[in-house]
Amino acid sequence: MATRTSDANPAAVRQRQAQRGLTRLLIRDMRGLRRVIIPSRLEATVPVWIDAVHALVEQYGGASSALSADYYEAERIAAQAPGAFSVPVAEPPPDEKVENSLRWATKDLWPRDPEDPATTEAQRQPMGVRLEQAEKKAEAVAQKLVVDQGRDTVQEAVRRDRQATAWARSAALGACSFCKLLATRGAVYKQDTADFQAHDGCHCGVVPVFKGQRFELSDHAREWERLYREFAAPHSGDQLRRFRLALAEHGHLPAR
Ligand SMILES: [Zn+2]
Repeated sequence: MATRTSDANPAAVRQRQAQRGLTRLLIRDMRGLRRVIIPSRLEATVPVWIDAVHALVEQYGGASSALSADYYEAERIAAQAPGAFSVPVAEPPPDEKVENSLRWATKDLWPRDPEDPATTEAQRQPMGVRLEQAEKKAEAVAQKLVVDQGRDTVQEAVRRDRQATAWARSAALGACSFCKLLATRGAVYKQDTADFQAHDGCHCGVVPVFKGQRFELSDHAREWERLYREFAAPHSGDQLRRFRLALAEHGHLPAR
């Protein structure tokens, strides 16, 4: 018997919430590391902080993959897909990638000459503000590094599993207009080679679709799709902005 799935099936929503929960714990732990950075000793303390955050990214990234593998297996069973399949768990991102991201997040902490025209507005701010900004950026990049591991796990499983045909994007009601737009595309077939596009701080999930399974857009994604078609699609070059406006005007309050 054919089963159904959607971008908002209960398991997909639970999976997204579980990943969000991981993000919350990651950020709580990162805030606990705040005091590691001592403004008068940046050179000695920023690298220590980077190492500590890196360890958190590793720990939570592993949890994100493991949860995603469990989710995939449960979805596979629910779809009555035959045969056994063991989910390959995504590798953690290369050390260099994590370190570069965290260095990027903290780059405005370093002292600059305020007279130098190359000094940006962000670099002119008092240290407290710069620390705050660095923290915010670091949280967003770390969140993506962690949750990407879970998303990669599901995507890679779809790619390798002969019983999987496609994946879809599951976006929360509070997701941004970019993510909502991508969610309206529904099932993206694995031979399309499209990659999952995620931004820093994105909480979207990947929903696997299996052979013989029917994919249907959720009611809210169908409504986003209608708004896009009606208010944005005809305006080539200005579609995302129009879509954002249409969402806001129709009470879909995008986060941005
Ligand atoms: Zn998103």
